[in-house]
Amino acid sequence: MVVPFKHEPFTDFTNENNRKEFEAALKKVKAELGKEYPLVINGEKIYTEDKLVSVNPGKKDQVVGKVSKATKEHIDKAFESAGKAFKKWRKMAPEARADVLFRAAAIVRRRKHEFSAWLAFDAGKPWGQADGDTAEGIDFLEYYGRQMLELAKGKPLEDRANEHNSYFYQPMGPGVTIPPWNFAFAIVCGTTVAPIVAGNPVLLKPSENTPVVAYKLVEVLEEAGLPKGVLSFVPGNPSEIGDYLVDHKDTHFVNFTGSRATGTRIIERAAKVQEGQQHLKRVVAEMGGKDTIIVDSDADLNLAAESIVNSAFGFSGQKCSACSRAVIHKDVYDEVLEKSIELTKELTVGNPAEEDVYMGAVVNKKQFDKIKDYIEIGKTEGELVYGGEADDSTGYYIKPTIFKNVAPEARIMQEEIFGPVVAFTKADNFDELLNIANNTEYGLTGAVISNNREHLEQARYDFHVGNLYFNRGCTAAIVGYQPFGGFKMSGTDSKAGGPDYLQHFLEAKIVSETF
Ligand code: GLU
Repeated sequence: MVVPFKHEPFTDFTNENNRKEFEAALKKVKAELGKEYPLVINGEKIYTEDKLVSVNPGKKDQVVGKVSKATKEHIDKAFESAGKAFKKWRKMAPEARADVLFRAAAIVRRRKHEFSAWLAFDAGKPWGQADGDTAEGIDFLEYYGRQMLELAKGKPLEDRANEHNSYFYQPMGPGVTIPPWNFAFAIVCGTTVAPIVAGNPVLLKPSENTPVVAYKLVEVLEEAGLPKGVLSFVPGNPSEIGDYLVDHKDTHFVNFTGSRATGTRIIERAAKVQEGQQHLKRVVAEMGGKDTIIVDSDADLNLAAESIVNSAFGFSGQKCSACSRAVIHKDVYDEVLEKSIELTKELTVGNPAEEDVYMGAVVNKKQFDKIKDYIEIGKTEGELVYGGEADDSTGYYIKPTIFKNVAPEARIMQEEIFGPVVAFTKADNFDELLNIANNTEYGLTGAVISNNREHLEQARYDFHVGNLYFNRGCTAAIVGYQPFGGFKMSGTDSKAGGPDYLQHFLEAKIVSETF
C-alpha cells in the first residue's frame, strides 16, 4: 500500500544545523565543478568533442560543468533505442514503473542539499528557492507515481448481457521533453518522469544554461532502476537540434516549458505530418506570463506589499509566475508602494553558491541585457522609484527594480521581462482593477489581495488566469495542491502536478468482448 501523497517539507534555514549541512553540500559540489558529462543513449555514456559549457551566473568565470552535445545522428540513435525500449516498458506493470519514481524520490531526498547546491551553482538559485526546487522535484516523483497507480485502474463502463467492456489507458510512444532552466531540477524532473511513468520513452534535451543538474537527474533515474533506452539525455544548442527533435517522425509528443516564441513554433511544426509518420503529435506547451497582483481598497496592506515583493523578486523574477504588475486601488496605492519599497530595500543580492542571499544573479548575458533594456524602456514609461542598477563585472547582477505610475498598455506592463522588475499602476474601482489585470495576452497566474468577499467571488470567474490566488502571492504553486498551467498565450493549460496531467501522454482504449 502506498501512503497518501504529502508535499515535501521545506528546509528551515534559520536552524543553524540546516545551514551547516547546506554549507557542507555547497563545499562538496564545489569540489566537483568543471567535470565533463556525457550524452546517454541506450544506457551508453557518450562523450563528444563539442561541449556546452555551463557557468555559475553569479561568478561567470566559474565553470560548473562541460556537457557533451548531441548531433542529429545521436538523436536518430536515441529514437531507435527508445523504440526498442518502448516494447518492454509499455508492458511493464504500472506498479513497477511507479516504483522507479518512488525509489528516485528516496534517493533525491537523502541527497537533497546536494541537488539544491548544484542549483545554486548551475542556475544561481538562492538557498531557499533551490530547496523549494528540489522539494518540488521530489513531489513530482511521488505524485506522478501515485497518479499512475490511480489511472492503471482504468474507468468503469457499463456491461450488457454477454458483453464485457473495458476502458484503460496505454502509452503513446517515444517523445521529447524540452524543459526550461528556471526550475532546473523540478520542471526537468516533472516533465520527464510524467511521460515515462505513463510508459513512454523520453528524449530529454535540457536547457543549455543548466545541463549539469539535468544530468544529475538522469543518474538518479538510472540508479533507481530505469531500464536503458527509456530515457536518453541529448543536450545541445536549440538552434542545432531543437527543430530536429520536434520534427522527427518518431516523436509522439513534445513536452515543452519555456518562451512563448519557442512554444508557438513547436505547436506549428509538430502539426506537420512527416514522411513515414503514422500518428498525430501532441504538444504540451507551458509558456510565458505577465502576472498581476491586484490590491483592493480594504486589503491588508502589509500582506499586499509582502506578496508583491516576494512574487516579483523571488529568484530574481525568473519565474513565469512572477508578479510583474501591481495593480492597486487608488485609495491605498501610495501606502502599498511605500511599504513595497521599504521591504525591497532589505533584500540582499549576492552569489548563492557562497552565501545565503535573497537574490542571485540572472541566468546569463542575454537575459541580463534584455532586462537592462526593459529598465531603460521603463524609465520612459514610468517613474523609477527603486533599483535599476545592473553590474555584470563578476556575475549578471541586477538590483530589484520598481517603477510607479506606469500606464496599463506600456511595454513593461505588457511584455514578459523575466527579471526583477515590477511596475505599479492604480485604478478607481475593482472592475477597473480586474480589467487592467486581464488586458495582457497572457493568462498564467494572478492574485487578489482583498477582504471584500464579493470582489473575491467576482475575481474567481472574471480574472482570466490558470492559477488564481486569494490573499497570498502569485508564485510557488505546490504539486498536488495547486496544479499549474495557464490560459491564453501562457500555454496549453496542462496543469502540471495535477490529476489530469498524465493523460496528456496516454491514449484511452476500449476493448469490448461478446461471449
Ligand atoms: N510553478 C512555479 C510557480 O508556481 C512557476 C513555474 C515556472 O516559472 O515555470 O511559481
